[in-house]
Amino acid sequence: MSEEQTSFMKSLFHGLIEENLVFPYPEMPPEERETVQMIVENLRKFGETEVDSAKIDREHTIEPALLDKMKAMGLFGLTIPEEHGGLGLSASAYARVIQEVAAIDASLAVTIGAHQSIGLKAILLFGTDEQKKKYLPKLATGERVAAFALTEPGAGSDAASITTRAELTDDGRHYVLNGSKIWITNGGFADVFTVFARTSAPDPGVKPRITALIVERSEGLTNGPNEEKLGIRGSSTTEIFFEDVRVPVENVLGEPGRGFKVAMEVLNSGRLGLASGCVGMSKRLVKMSTERVQERSAFGRPIGQFGMIKEKIARMTAETYALESMTYLTTGLIDEGVADYSLESAICKVYGSETLWYVVNQTLQIAAGIGYMSEYPYERMMRDARINMIFEGTNEILRAFIALSGMQSPGKQLAEVAKAMREPIKGFGVLSDYVVGRARGLVTRERLERSHPVLAGEAALFAECTALLAQRVEQTLRKHGRDIAEMQFVQKRIAEAAMDLYALAAVLSRTTRAIERKGEKGAEREIHLAIAYRRLAEPRLRERLGEMERDTDELLKEVAARTYADGGYPFDVI
Ligand SMILES: Cc1cc2nc3c(=O)[nH]c(=O)nc-3n(C[C@H](O)[C@H](O)[C@H](O)COP(=O)(O)OP(=O)(O)OC[C@H]3O[C@@H](n4cnc5c(N)ncnc54)[C@H](O)[C@@H]3O)c2cc1C
Repeated sequence: MSEEQTSFMKSLFHGLIEENLVFPYPEMPPEERETVQMIVENLRKFGETEVDSAKIDREHTIEPALLDKMKAMGLFGLTIPEEHGGLGLSASAYARVIQEVAAIDASLAVTIGAHQSIGLKAILLFGTDEQKKKYLPKLATGERVAAFALTEPGAGSDAASITTRAELTDDGRHYVLNGSKIWITNGGFADVFTVFARTSAPDPGVKPRITALIVERSEGLTNGPNEEKLGIRGSSTTEIFFEDVRVPVENVLGEPGRGFKVAMEVLNSGRLGLASGCVGMSKRLVKMSTERVQERSAFGRPIGQFGMIKEKIARMTAETYALESMTYLTTGLIDEGVADYSLESAICKVYGSETLWYVVNQTLQIAAGIGYMSEYPYERMMRDARINMIFEGTNEILRAFIALSGMQSPGKQLAEVAKAMREPIKGFGVLSDYVVGRARGLVTRERLERSHPVLAGEAALFAECTALLAQRVEQTLRKHGRDIAEMQFVQKRIAEAAMDLYALAAVLSRTTRAIERKGEKGAEREIHLAIAYRRLAEPRLRERLGEMERDTDELLKEVAARTYADGGYPFDVI
């Protein structure tokens, strides 16, 4: 492991537990906590008195007057520094506010999220002082709204294959933009777009590279009508067309030709906004379920008294606790200045969207008949929740990313080890102790030292499975090397094991902090949830960290190949 590595999850792929990154569990400073509490209280009142989600869904729009009220509450400038007119909230505080907005209405959360989690984020991360001064104040008040325009008809998951072009004019002062984007959130009314386009490489023989540009709504930039869609119907999703749009060269974000990195960095942080939205919706759904199981009776008792209902409520609560714990652990890492949180935020996005999907599905099941009726909010919330598994990187792409990005550094080191084995005397001299240990097969199992003793069983499971993860990664890399890039059955197992390990680390850290604050008795609820979470995660971890390659994988590939060849399901009973 290289010494500069400071990603908790990347270290974990080496079998190393960097406890100092996840203990103690982060907490908001008191002053910021107060600010957030005030915003949250105002939001709750606003939600109860002003927001009619059924109407937003039915009419497929958010009334401008409602958006204006949100702008007046400062909700469009949450992450923009105070010097540029925003509230300057930390990553944790921002996530907590988005959580609350999502609990009120998902369309509202997506609109605000597209504006600041991704739309203007590149200006915050890569903008020059001039760009910040020019754009941020009006974006902070919501006088101007931002959008993030990456996806194209031929480039969704494979975002690097975009074809929108930005040609430099002869005088070198402008780019001329031509092409189109699809499914752009806020596309119907945004004024400022972060657009990704291909610009010519200096060498004519080289493929044009991607550049990120700030593009204002101006002559030549038009949008299509709002798309009709399954959920988040109040949010605006449109096509964007560029026809000879002139963009000054001063509007390049970061370096010309380095736009793909800009897009990835923006999405790294955007995924946490999405995860915190999933926390908000999940918590609201658990509340709705809890109320329903006490009100509704069957066979002479409230349905909450049946074991199968209790099991659902318990699992929903424990999974939501894990999701909330990992989300705010990750925003805490950002607030601490940890630079690389790409794996952690991808995990929060996948875990968050799938936890929410589980919770909304069970909530609808508990509500049963009324759950299915449009008169009640359940089916709308299910439709609203579905998008989270698709945008900001589909959950399949992110599983591959988690596995491959996690394995990258162990892979490099194995190459180093292999080289060292060929030239042992020269090689060992330049290798770190860890790598030398690896080469000699001496790596010891790490322990989780800072977790509270009450959680010793959970900490032991974490340590055992961390060692197992590193071992599986190493075995797989030794056997397959670069071919792992094509082995998605294995990638999926590794990614899912990594996700449960991160969740377990977050739960242990948070619960330990709760025990330290309130004592074992005071933190009894958290301890129960930590143990419950471990019980849910343990069989999953053991299953995924078992054999990496299985006969059934080949069987399933064969079944899929035959189904493709048959053009669908081939059987019938008549
Ligand atoms: C409501 C909505 C709002 C959106 N807002 C925005 C926005 O504001 N800005 C923006 O730029 N984009 C936006 N998008 C686009 C969104 O990010 C893309 O839809 C998403 O990235 C997936 O691309 P795709 O739909 O083309 O799916 P595809 O890339 O065609 O994928 C189809 C399926 O194949 C799977 N797949 C693809 N490649 C692989 C692989 N290598 N391995 C395994 N599986 C794979 C995918 O996971 C998926 O299941 C939005 C989309 C929607 C629906």
